[in-house]
Amino acid sequence: MASDGQIVASGEWHPANSSLSVVARLTETSTGLAVERVPSGEILASGGLAGVQISPRVGSIPRRIDFADGSLFETTDNDAIDRLLARSGRRATGLVHKLERFHPRLIVLVVATFLMAGLVYRYALPVLVEVAVAVTPPVVPKIMSVSTLETMDRTMLSPSRLDAGKQREISAGFAKIAALSTRGAAGYSLNFRAGGAIGPNAFALPDGTLVLTDELVELADGDDEMIIGVLAHEIGHVELEHSLRQIYRAAGMAGLIMMIAGDVGSSVEDLLVQGGGLLALSYSRSAEEAADRHSVELMSKAGFDATAIARFFVLLENKLGDRSGTNMLSTHPGTPERRKAILDYESALRAKRQN
Ligand SMILES: [Zn+2]
Repeated sequence: MASDGQIVASGEWHPANSSLSVVARLTETSTGLAVERVPSGEILASGGLAGVQISPRVGSIPRRIDFADGSLFETTDNDAIDRLLARSGRRATGLVHKLERFHPRLIVLVVATFLMAGLVYRYALPVLVEVAVAVTPPVVPKIMSVSTLETMDRTMLSPSRLDAGKQREISAGFAKIAALSTRGAAGYSLNFRAGGAIGPNAFALPDGTLVLTDELVELADGDDEMIIGVLAHEIGHVELEHSLRQIYRAAGMAGLIMMIAGDVGSSVEDLLVQGGGLLALSYSRSAEEAADRHSVELMSKAGFDATAIARFFVLLENKLGDRSGTNMLSTHPGTPERRKAILDYESALRAKRQN
């Protein structure tokens, strides 16, 4: 039996939960819409216009008309569907139509996705990072480090202008603490560079490559012990595998962003792909504090002033005017706090030794 309705468009009909497709046409009846088998005219599905869902027009993608029984009619005749919508007072495109399409089910899905991402970030990511660090073969930090130093040498660093005698003095002090570290002297190399844009700085790459800038040596103004204290802090970052963790955390974050947005921004991609990205990642507050404590321990073992690194923070406070307390923009603890924590830790260690 045919519906006696006016033919709207021809296309294909798919029964609910089936990949079967039936050649059919959509007709408009006095009560709504119907799908008729071609050529028999047998009614396959029907429903009032308000009871069906019509997909919005997206380029030349076939329109879907979902019936309440779960079956759907598909047609490439987009104009016919638009005319149908116009006749029935429903706008083919535009906000009203989009709002109609925005079902509570979709809201629930979005909320669930964010909730899931939050849970993954809170509970699963830290575990995954630890696993990744544990299974990383030593060649990976090596490759990351070599490419990072290459990138930095190309972009901001230049050869050191320090005289050879000064370099030897600092290297000798550094050799003492490196020898007492867990990795031993062979696990580290100290490199001198003019810092350019990065100014007075020292940083460690995950494979134990350390870089000290001329600007930091100049800022130290002859206090080599303080420089060694800063380098001991950097050794702490290496031994505690902070930068490797940061990289994996960033990679995990990118994964989460991908999960939500379906794409990672190109800047995140650059960060992960290019070695230079390693340095764009700042360490967490707790990582900095752990590295500070490492400096105190290592310096003390080597017979240096254990709190030498605290003098570096005094210098920063005085010369660079960093009295910011806790700077919300940075994950780094304010330098006065860090200096106090170092002094406290050293006295605690000393008290423990005397007991
Ligand atoms: Zn640090």
